[in-house]
Amino acid sequence: FNDKIPVERQVEKFLHQTVNDYKALPIVVGKSTSVYDAIVQLFLEDVGTLYAVDSDGQLAGVISRKDLLRASLGNQNLNELPVSVIMTRMPNIITIHPEETLLEAAKKMIHNHIDSLPVVKEMDEQKNTYLLVGRITKTTITRAYIEIMDEKSD
Ligand code: ADP
Repeated sequence: FNDKIPVERQVEKFLHQTVNDYKALPIVVGKSTSVYDAIVQLFLEDVGTLYAVDSDGQLAGVISRKDLLRASLGNQNLNELPVSVIMTRMPNIITIHPEETLLEAAKKMIHNHIDSLPVVKEMDEQKNTYLLVGRITKTTITRAYIEIMDEKSD
């Protein structure tokens, strides 16, 4: 006896889930935060990626585990080194909008070999400024997959 929703409905649901419905809170640091403090933050928040923002909440950079490991390999004083020096910055950040689908988010992560995407709203397209409103990770996609596949029919 199968109490799951029909496969066609599962596929249909999976294809139409939007980023907005699944996005998590972004964990942010200021651009002048030290690499040392960023590493502490990564452990405290239990995330793999931090986002650097300007004073007005604009997305300025992405700081991943590998970025922090690379910075730690040298002999620099990690307390003196700001994350702005080591982060991936605009315009090189791959972003996603709240109304895009999870499938689009998954494709962007796979094609660009990255673990997460900042969810943004445009502030000024000309100036390339984006307001950071969330994050999508590979875990998000896995969670959506389980939720939809395990959904019971009523
Ligand atoms: P990790 O470093 O833990 O393997 P990623 O694979 O996500 O994590 O990051 C690999 C590199 O890609 C890092 O240098 C990181 O700054 C960069 N990166 C991560 N996410 C993005 C993104 N959304 N847009 C552009 N670059 C990114």
